[in-house]
Amino acid sequence: MLRRLFAVLCLWVLPLGASGPKWSLDRWFDSPRSPRIANYHIQATLDWQAKRLDGRETLSWRNTGAVPTRELPLHLYMNAFKGPQSRFMQEGGLRSSRRRSGQPQDWGYCHLKEVSLNGHALQGHFGEDETVWWVRLSEPVAPGETIRLQIAWETQFPRVTARTGWSGHFLMGAQWFPKAGVFQGDRWACAPYHAHTEFFGDFGTYDVELSLPNGLLLAHTGTQVNFQSAEDVTKDPDRPLNVIWKLHAEDVHDFAWAVMPARSWSYQKYEYRGVQIFYFFQGPNVDNLPRQHEAVKAALRHGTEWALPYPYPVLTVVDVPPEAHGADGMEYPTLVTASSVAFDPFRFRFAPELVTVHEVGHQWFQGILASNEVDEPWLDEGLTSWFTHRVMERTYQTLWGTRRFQIGTEFGEWIGYGGERSWDPITTPGPRMRNGWSYTTAAYSKPTLVLLQLEALLGRPVVEQAIRDYARTQAFGHPTAADFKRSLERASGRDLSTFWRDFVEGTGSLDYAIAEVETTEVMQGGWMMRNGQREFVPPQQVAPGRRGRIVLERRGEIQVPITLWVRLEDRSEHRLSWDGQSRWTAFTFDHPVVAAVLDPDGNHPMLKDRLHASYTQRPVRRGFHYWGQLVWGGVLSVLQGVGLG
Ligand SMILES: [Zn+2]
Repeated sequence: MLRRLFAVLCLWVLPLGASGPKWSLDRWFDSPRSPRIANYHIQATLDWQAKRLDGRETLSWRNTGAVPTRELPLHLYMNAFKGPQSRFMQEGGLRSSRRRSGQPQDWGYCHLKEVSLNGHALQGHFGEDETVWWVRLSEPVAPGETIRLQIAWETQFPRVTARTGWSGHFLMGAQWFPKAGVFQGDRWACAPYHAHTEFFGDFGTYDVELSLPNGLLLAHTGTQVNFQSAEDVTKDPDRPLNVIWKLHAEDVHDFAWAVMPARSWSYQKYEYRGVQIFYFFQGPNVDNLPRQHEAVKAALRHGTEWALPYPYPVLTVVDVPPEAHGADGMEYPTLVTASSVAFDPFRFRFAPELVTVHEVGHQWFQGILASNEVDEPWLDEGLTSWFTHRVMERTYQTLWGTRRFQIGTEFGEWIGYGGERSWDPITTPGPRMRNGWSYTTAAYSKPTLVLLQLEALLGRPVVEQAIRDYARTQAFGHPTAADFKRSLERASGRDLSTFWRDFVEGTGSLDYAIAEVETTEVMQGGWMMRNGQREFVPPQQVAPGRRGRIVLERRGEIQVPITLWVRLEDRSEHRLSWDGQSRWTAFTFDHPVVAAVLDPDGNHPMLKDRLHASYTQRPVRRGFHYWGQLVWGGVLSVLQGVGLG
């Protein structure tokens, strides 16, 4: 077993040295890229059978706030899965059958054994629930001061639940260690683990030593610093059958890993633009690997172009086994979990590309631009969804548009935004949103469309310039929506207050409709005076014969000037402008209206319903694309149902 492990380990490390990187495995940057506020030395031993981790960590934390603090909160995320009483569970973070599970291995926890400072044990208390522990410090920590907390803990992984845990032979180690909150100004940001939110952490360095049983193959954030040769295997002195993996990462704000027996999965390594990219996958999914690799390259290219060059030397892509669905499609610094498809002979399905591009996009919009995902989830999910949309459009749309079904890349966004009412402004903190649907709409779908609306308003290069400005000025910090707005205003030179009020902070919709199209005959006749005599003339049509009339309605709350294009029966075409302020308006024409379209130039991507914003005399037929997609959707559902999805 050990010999096989040596072979695996040598494969794992040797290529790193071969290409002569400018960085070293245990030191990536000559000078820190981030403020390095929370730095972790972690040593943990995995009990593979029990899926339990016994850990100790030294947390070196610096007060970068404006005032002294007497407390330091620690996230104990795994306690969200301790039982149905956690906030996460009560908010519906798990389907009800799992919430009633009587199997102990379905549940997890993070038990804090001891927190000490300078050899003295510290007391504390839980916060709103057991996912946050507030450590009471013996003395206030002044701004600029650094403390080193010694923390001992035990983590029990649940069956895969919300991004983390085990399933079959796979274990995803995410949110697995006690982690400091973020102290900003005079207050801590350390929210309990909610059902509809993600995370927020300070940048720092991570030196992690994981003691794992022989024969397990580890995928992880950062670089591996030992196992440089067959002699360099670090055996665990306390556990003769274990080896210790020494790992390092710099200027990141989280650390994740995934493990499987080496016989169950393997990896391949590529290099692209100086980044070592590792793919971990199971044999049957090998077909997905080239597709994921193309997607990673596209995301790295466009991330560099639209934000800033990917700063880290490594990137790991974990293709999560199907039984661990729930851990896939997630982002961590320098590590993402991807999706794959098992049956796709004609490449009709695009999960391998879409999910990979999205998660790699998060390396910027969350990884490097570490906004608060609890308070402003749209800043990471929304900008990443916009990024995904743009990369997919640039890289794959031509391919899909010509050879496959015509699927608009914003299709997914429309399902969310067009189908649902906007209950919450996109600036709403995650836990205060109405429900999961509202969270998806406000954090993912609507922000993408808001950015497309901005592109139409300001021009695409201006929006790209603004995002580049946002990325370069806020990298390795905790930007807010105000920072993003400032970058947009700087790049465009415009005051965006009205736009912000309507689209970002409001819940109103942009909804204009062609409400009525009618034709009236121009008639003359009846009792008329002719040569001084009253005479009855039968009513008859006179020039121009028939008139067209069109009534427009503003059905949403947002008021914008909008263009109407019409074609009349005499084949003439007209463009008219309406300021869009009143609830309705009407236009008349000298000939009947044959066709009409509101916003013909696509200046308002957020127009709620383009069907009722257009008119034609002939009914629209449902053609091949409509029926084809319906049938294909049905086939996919069946495949998914029988486990081939
Ligand atoms: Zn995302």
